[in-house]
Amino acid sequence: GCQPAESPLLERRFIALGTIIDITLYGAEAEQADPVLAAIERDFHRLHHDWHAWEDSRLTALNTALQRGEHAPVPAELMAVLKQARALNRSSNGLFEPAIGGLMALWGFHSNDLPDSVPDNDTIAAWLAGRPRMTDLALENGQAHSDNPRLQLDLGAFAKGVAVDRAIAALRAAGIDNAIVNAGGDLRAIGARDRPWRIGIRHPRAPGVLASIATRNDESIFTSGDYERYFEFEGKRYHHIIDPRSGYPARDTASLTVIHSEAATADAAATALFVAGDAWPRTAADMGIERVLRVRADGTVEMTPAMAERIRFETEVEPVVVL
Ligand code: ADP
Ligand code: MG
Ligand code: MG
Repeated sequence: GCQPAESPLLERRFIALGTIIDITLYGAEAEQADPVLAAIERDFHRLHHDWHAWEDSRLTALNTALQRGEHAPVPAELMAVLKQARALNRSSNGLFEPAIGGLMALWGFHSNDLPDSVPDNDTIAAWLAGRPRMTDLALENGQAHSDNPRLQLDLGAFAKGVAVDRAIAALRAAGIDNAIVNAGGDLRAIGARDRPWRIGIRHPRAPGVLASIATRNDESIFTSGDYERYFEFEGKRYHHIIDPRSGYPARDTASLTVIHSEAATADAAATALFVAGDAWPRTAADMGIERVLRVRADGTVEMTPAMAERIRFETEVEPVVVL
């Protein structure tokens, strides 16, 4: 990091899960943190390889087996994650839909390069006609099976959250109580520094920070944004958060931020509430999420009363509190 030598802040950065992972530690225990930081870095790289959605991985092997209608053995760790994903799919009423892998591939997002054109309407209509859902996925006796051969798993809306939770658990087990694990702007913070950790929330349309939040002990802040991965085609923006009901990128939201205790839930909820559009307050209630900030595509800002208590706007906006 770039801290002066006498600073009690210690930072470690690496790239995994398609983004920059930045771990910041505060306090005396940070001095002995090297082994646990190395273990966390290895864990991130392993999850990156195991759960990759289009390169050779445990996940793509499972997807191939599901496509063939097999009863595929699933490693215990992946099984636990799939069960957690299925529960979040249910509480989001299907808006968080990790069975969407085939559609992501149709759109061309299963590539290191961005797509340069839009799939034709008939292709999307055909996918919708046989639309796979997480509820089609049977998870029993260490095996996965689906009667719908179109079911392809994509953990992109959720993997960062799971990995961040694991990293925080590892830090805690090593006696570190003051830390931030940041995965490309999505993070979980525990403890504090000499003052509370203050987290910036990116403005979806302008460079810099829209707002900031001082975290209390152990909170995750996750954002889904239409600016993370997108391309323009014939003057329109097409981004990577897809509404499983329409088959097209979810409309009307530019960015959606949630605060929640666990990172995995926060990650899935940010995606689901993004997809929900103007109906986000209902999805938030269904998922038990109390703190929400939404920037609409037209630039207006909405939030819950519980978010209003915590947020400080850094640019001039007139947010609307939504009950
Ligand atoms: P960000 O990368 O901006 O933090 P998300 O957490 O919302 O955004 O993750 C977006 C990724 O989630 C996509 O790249 C894709 O892999 C996957 N995805 C897209 N739409 C959905 C959806 N409706 N449900 C679940 N996963 C989705
Ligand atoms: Mg997400
Ligand atoms: Mg995110």
